[in-house]
Amino acid sequence: METRPKCFPRLNRQRANPANLPAPPTGDPFPVLVNIDHPIAESTADTESRLAFIGSYPGIRTLDDLIRLDALCLERLNALLEAVEGRDGIVVVSGYRDPAEQTKIYSDSLRDNGAEYTAKFVALPGCSEHHTGLAVDVGSAAGGLDFIAPAFPDEGVCAAFKARAAEFGFVQRYKAHKEHLTGISCEPWHFRYVGASHAAIMEEHDLCLEEYTQRLRHAADQNGAECHGK
Ligand SMILES: [Zn+2]
Repeated sequence: METRPKCFPRLNRQRANPANLPAPPTGDPFPVLVNIDHPIAESTADTESRLAFIGSYPGIRTLDDLIRLDALCLERLNALLEAVEGRDGIVVVSGYRDPAEQTKIYSDSLRDNGAEYTAKFVALPGCSEHHTGLAVDVGSAAGGLDFIAPAFPDEGVCAAFKARAAEFGFVQRYKAHKEHLTGISCEPWHFRYVGASHAAIMEEHDLCLEEYTQRLRHAADQNGAECHGK
C-alpha cells in the first residue's frame, strides 16, 4: 500500500542533482515545509486519510494511544525506537494536531505560560508542523513529560535516538543555531520525518528544512531554466 503523502510532488531525480546540492535525494518525496510563512496547504481530510494510531504499535510508550501520525512516519518511528531499544525509555508525547487543536493549545499556553514562552515554543494555528502528521514530540520516560516541552536530554537512550534518527528518516527540526531561520526556539524533543535520503543530506550539511527546501527549489528552477534553454 502506498503510505507516502500523496500531495507532495515527487522530485525528479535528474532535476534534483544540480552541482550545488550535495547528493541526489532518492525516492523520498519533496519534504513539505510548514512554518509561519508557509501555512499547511494540504486539506485536513487529505492529511487525516494517511494517519494511523500510535496504539496500532503496542510496543510504543505514549501519553495517549489515540495520538496519530502519518502511517509511514509511525512505522519508521517504531523501527527507530526498536533499533535504539528505546521502547521503555522514550514516550511519544504529541503527534498529529488539526488546526482547531492547535488553536486550543496556543490559547491555553498564552493563558498558562504567557506570550513570550508561547511565541518561542508554540506555532500559530495553521503554521504548526504537527498539522502534517509528520512531526512527533518525544520525551524521556525518566524526565518530566511536559506536553509542550518534554525533557529529551542528550544522554542515554535519548542521545541514541537522536544519533540514529536520520538513518530512519527523522531530523531534529528546531536546533539552537537555526532559530533565526526556523522562527522556533531549540526543541530537542521535536522530530520531523523527511525520509532517510533527505535526512542524511540535511544532517551531513547541517541544513534546517527552510535552507534545504530552498536549495531544492532553487536547484529545480535552475534545471528547468537549463532545460528550456536547450
Ligand atoms: Zn512538536
